[in-house]
Amino acid sequence: MFAEIIIPLAVPKNYTWEIPEEFSGKLQVGCRVEVSLRNKKYTGIVKSIYKDSPEAFTPKPILNIIDEEPLLFAPQLKLWEWMAAYYMCTEGEVMNAALPSYFKMNSESIIVFNEEYGDDFSLLNNEEYLVAEALFIKKELKLSEVQQILDSRKVYPVLKQLSIKKVCYIWESLKDRYVPKKETYIVLNPAYDNEAALSDLLNNWTKAPKQMELLLAYIHLLKTNGSVTKKELLQKSAATEAQLKGLLEKNILLSEKKEVNRIIQLPLDIKIDFTLSTAQQVALESIETAFAKKENCLLFGVTGSGKTLLYIQLLEKVIREGKQALYLLPEIALTTQLIRRLQHHFGGYIAVYHSKFNDSERVELWNKVKTGTIKIIMGARSSLLLPFYALDLIIIDEEHEPSYKQYEPAPRYHARDTAMFYAKQCNAKVLLGSATPSVETFYNVSIQKLTLVKLEERFGGTHLPLIEIIDTKLQNKNQQEKIIITNPLKEEITAAIANKKQVILFKNRRGYSPYKVCSTCGWMPECKHCNVALTYHKNKNHLICHYCNTIYSTINTCLACGGQKFEQKNFGTEKVEETIIEMFPEAKIARMDLDTVKGKNAHNNLIQQFEQGKIDILIGTQMLVKGLDFEHVHLVGIVDADSLLHFADFRVHERAFQMMEQVSGRAGRKNTQGKVLIQAMQSDHPLLQFIKTHDYFAFYHKEIEERKQFFYPPFSRLIQVQFKNKDIQKLQKTADYFVANMDSRFQKYLIGPAEPFINKIRNQFIMEVLFKLPKDTATIEACKAAMQKQFAILQNTREFSSTIIIPNVDPV
Ligand code: ADP
Ligand code: ZN
Ligand code: ZN
Repeated sequence: MFAEIIIPLAVPKNYTWEIPEEFSGKLQVGCRVEVSLRNKKYTGIVKSIYKDSPEAFTPKPILNIIDEEPLLFAPQLKLWEWMAAYYMCTEGEVMNAALPSYFKMNSESIIVFNEEYGDDFSLLNNEEYLVAEALFIKKELKLSEVQQILDSRKVYPVLKQLSIKKVCYIWESLKDRYVPKKETYIVLNPAYDNEAALSDLLNNWTKAPKQMELLLAYIHLLKTNGSVTKKELLQKSAATEAQLKGLLEKNILLSEKKEVNRIIQLPLDIKIDFTLSTAQQVALESIETAFAKKENCLLFGVTGSGKTLLYIQLLEKVIREGKQALYLLPEIALTTQLIRRLQHHFGGYIAVYHSKFNDSERVELWNKVKTGTIKIIMGARSSLLLPFYALDLIIIDEEHEPSYKQYEPAPRYHARDTAMFYAKQCNAKVLLGSATPSVETFYNVSIQKLTLVKLEERFGGTHLPLIEIIDTKLQNKNQQEKIIITNPLKEEITAAIANKKQVILFKNRRGYSPYKVCSTCGWMPECKHCNVALTYHKNKNHLICHYCNTIYSTINTCLACGGQKFEQKNFGTEKVEETIIEMFPEAKIARMDLDTVKGKNAHNNLIQQFEQGKIDILIGTQMLVKGLDFEHVHLVGIVDADSLLHFADFRVHERAFQMMEQVSGRAGRKNTQGKVLIQAMQSDHPLLQFIKTHDYFAFYHKEIEERKQFFYPPFSRLIQVQFKNKDIQKLQKTADYFVANMDSRFQKYLIGPAEPFINKIRNQFIMEVLFKLPKDTATIEACKAAMQKQFAILQNTREFSSTIIIPNVDPV
């Protein structure tokens, strides 16, 4: 018997190994095995088992079976295969992304002693003890060193046990070494961990009333948060160290040093303590009707309409039926705010999965999802790769978010589209949610691939914010330099602060790249063929369209007004902050962007400070937009709308609409109508009119017409190929060779090679080729195959082999 095995490498196809006699009948699809390839040992996953020996070569035997039970299920293997084919990568690369390091140990793996375990090895068997002792002394071992301690057949089983018993962690290499952060937690003495004992204690309390207050504060925190750190407790209860010490000495509370991120064990509890509004109830019923007909849905609900509450209702049903659900969020939206909200409703039924987990936690979660102990996973895109055992529902919140697309490394998948495929494999339903659906998704509604469910009012009847557009040209009249905060915005900020309301100022970080703009009228050169802003290439001193490659000579006279002065606009959040500090020296000002939220908790800390009113004005990038529900924000200022509108990408208008509508949505969420001021030079841009009236449909109709006219998605499928090399000559040769030798059938779909605006990153020069393919599966498949063939040739030709080739299907 033979087995096709996936190993965690980017090999073009899966290899075959022989199943030795002694393992026959023991091996199942989905189990891990140990194999060797070019003298290195790898953990592989059995994809299929078959009888006939391959003709071209004699397979080597499998060295060892690691799992008796499969590590994952058939739908996952199907998913890997689909992802590899669709996103033009290998199943090994998908495996790499999917499995925690521990599951793919190899000779290079590092085994690290878990200091928390201590030195009591009495629960270990002899072999486990041998390794534990070595680890205790050396703190870390390479897998190859463990192989010297134990009989080679025993290595994996023993390490598996040691990992389960938390004696050690396993790392792929020293690089991704994780140092667990510890914090002091306060826990209730188990003796009081029941209603009766607790009320007995409280009722018979005599002295030290302050301590009792503290205890009550603790119990409250425990109920809402699930776990309580010492720091948090002292902060929230305003108690003193001494009072806490009193309770600790009485042994009512205990103090424990624990890792911060450890999966919180909350009671299995469902709590639905709200009732849906009529509109919400109607929407929920529509969703359920669609699901019953096996239709997937788009929940198109304005900001603040209560989409989350509908999700909660649907999730409740899944739990009650004993099934599983996945609640996907864009990475940046995984805030403690939302996590706590969900934990409040579902306690221990829900778990959060994110990249910051350490490996043993990932393993723990993997197993709990696989056995169905955990019913709901809330996580970013990679949680799609967990081994769900009874998946019934996938919710994709903020489905329009570009961060659902993985860029580096492969698989370069889009979580929304991948989820649609995966759900079908599992017979699960999909609910997409957004206040600003992606054009692709809304198009799917229009062709009846998705059922539309609308929530058109905010909960509580608050109106969407009032939008005012400020023409910066008028404001700029007598100024030399561009004004960052115009007078009307300044006045509104002043008023908001005087009324003790909060302000959010938004500046898109990505609008940083320089471009030419007429200083008189705000006109920008655009491509004749593509309806995108032209990118100014400084080196070559010309203008180029990124999408069709047309080159235009530099324009020195404005085609709109004849003006001859162009400027390169270029400012970011920092400049805004500087200006605001100068303008409002008394105000409490903070900035939220990638530079200010480096640490793991920095983002949440800022959000919490803002929530607690410790910040008056918060300046930031799109980071401050997502999944946040602030009560006291009255005013939102979009400082520089032009930078959102002039971005060399066919999705520019879609992104700009989404961004502005979402940022606006932060204004006036509870009770009072908020206000949004948008500063723009191009104040009469049609998009701003759509924003002003919150008119998604008008936006969509204009946009979809343009997509159709210029043959962009959803009417075509884009595949981008990036070539990278430190040597620019070699790079150009490779890209040219690729284009010249690409199958003639697909030449007409091919654009490039072109140099991207940022044509060098980390010393690598970049060239790009774009395929704009008709949406016809046969053509797309054939083109992918032809591309792969060319890639193989390039990789096997000396002059070209140093060039890195990155295919990116459905780039965002
Ligand atoms: P969305 O995700 O659609 O922007 P949310 O789900 O965050 O909106 O809801 C906005 C606010 O309204 C939240 O604070 C939420 O708790 C509140 N809310 C919405 N619906 C209800 C309801 N039925 N009962 C109580 N509060 C609600
Ligand atoms: Zn002009
Ligand atoms: Zn063009």
